[in-house]
Amino acid sequence: MNRITYTSIIKDDNPSLRQKSAVLKLPLQKKYITLAKRMLRYVKDSRDDEKAEIYDLKPAVGLAAPQVGVNVQIIVVVMDDDEGNFIEYCLANPKIISHSVQKTVLSLGEGCLSVENEHQGLVHRSARIKVRAFDILTNQEKEFKASGYLAVVLQHEIDHLNGVLFYDHINLSDPWKIEENTMIIES
Ligand SMILES: [Zn+2]
Repeated sequence: MNRITYTSIIKDDNPSLRQKSAVLKLPLQKKYITLAKRMLRYVKDSRDDEKAEIYDLKPAVGLAAPQVGVNVQIIVVVMDDDEGNFIEYCLANPKIISHSVQKTVLSLGEGCLSVENEHQGLVHRSARIKVRAFDILTNQEKEFKASGYLAVVLQHEIDHLNGVLFYDHINLSDPWKIEENTMIIES
């Protein structure tokens, strides 16, 4: 399985990152399972300093298929949630089926492997979401709730499937303004 590297990740000057990604038919074709596993490997290995150095991996907590040049609905997330639980998601066709009124922001703003230029400002997202997706690791449909940092990461990755980038959400006239009813996550 050839590795995804940071250099090979599609950057935001490429219009393909702005396309909507296709919903995948189930059962998943083998090539998409392989793609998902390559994406998962990138994110997992990017957490390891030594591997990151050797294999040209910029650290990440998530990745979406359009970022590796395939416009289909696959995302991966590898991180610890706010309770310290290790989370590893490898999902096809993820959909946010409900979300809180309360918003949340990362205090320092967001970053993205596909974005090299600096885009300063807050990205307001739903503080809590409910997601329905096909879980590629267990090969079954699942529904789950996410909050805090994990909810932010999931919304960031799902945005990629709709051709949306984090800085699209920044209020350019007042980038650091915190909206009402917003929970701040120190980042
Ligand atoms: Zn991103």
